[in-house]
Amino acid sequence: MDKIVAKKKFGQNFLKDEHVLRQIIEAMPNTSNSLVEIGPGLGDLTKYLVDVRGLTAFEVDTDLCKHLNERFKTLIKEDKLQLHCGDVLKSWDDNLVDEDYDLVANLPYYIATNIILRALADEKCKNLLVMVQLEVAKKFAANAGEKNFGALGIITQSVGTASIVIDVPPTAFDPAPKVDSAVLLIQKSKSRSDREFEQMLSYAFTQPRKTLLKNLSSHFDKALITKALEEMELPLTYRPHQLTTEGFHQLYKKIT
Ligand code: SAM
Repeated sequence: MDKIVAKKKFGQNFLKDEHVLRQIIEAMPNTSNSLVEIGPGLGDLTKYLVDVRGLTAFEVDTDLCKHLNERFKTLIKEDKLQLHCGDVLKSWDDNLVDEDYDLVANLPYYIATNIILRALADEKCKNLLVMVQLEVAKKFAANAGEKNFGALGIITQSVGTASIVIDVPPTAFDPAPKVDSAVLLIQKSKSRSDREFEQMLSYAFTQPRKTLLKNLSSHFDKALITKALEEMELPLTYRPHQLTTEGFHQLYKKIT
């Protein structure tokens, strides 16, 4: 087979550092859920994952699919690996897989946020252990009061817990990306389902440096928000990143 050249348009940065690959396997949540990998690429993480449990993998690039079909011929025959060639976001229009699963992947960065939000909404997805751009990982794992705290952190905390478990430098990849990366662990206790609450979050953070009262007043009754903040004993000057996830849920109940 011809040498495979990384394609930028598919966000291909192959993880080559064996130490990081093993760290990812060690950080996997201890469950008996089946495994899903999005973007197996050359298969270097895949080879460790199939050793752990049965795996379903989704790869968009037809050249890589050919390579993976060849590399894992035996495991595919034995049904230990199911390989789907195509855009994972299209497969997600239906059930991604039929049983409960944990998502473990070095994600394509150009659609990483979208994939994580889809997985948070998918009831079958129980845990995520995903490599993403460090700045994106920080947003999902942020806590109230931190400058990165916004809708992504609140949505995540509404369905479970999130933490950054491994920091990964560009040198771990080939080709090296321009940004630092991190492995993010999200353990879900339920699934994302309340789109109206999320709509309120997007209003709340429209202008992050303005007050929550000002941002929300364009869409909700100002007197009601003022009353709610007073009842919650919060200053009217509160900025959106200062309110906790629980606070956002309380406020939402009071103003809708
Ligand atoms: N897992 C490999 C590794 O760790 O070396 C490759 C990771 S690379 C960052 C992202 C992978 O996702 C690439 O193989 C790319 O072709 C694949 N990919 C990009 N967009 C995709 C999509 N929409 N559906 C499925 N796979 C996709």
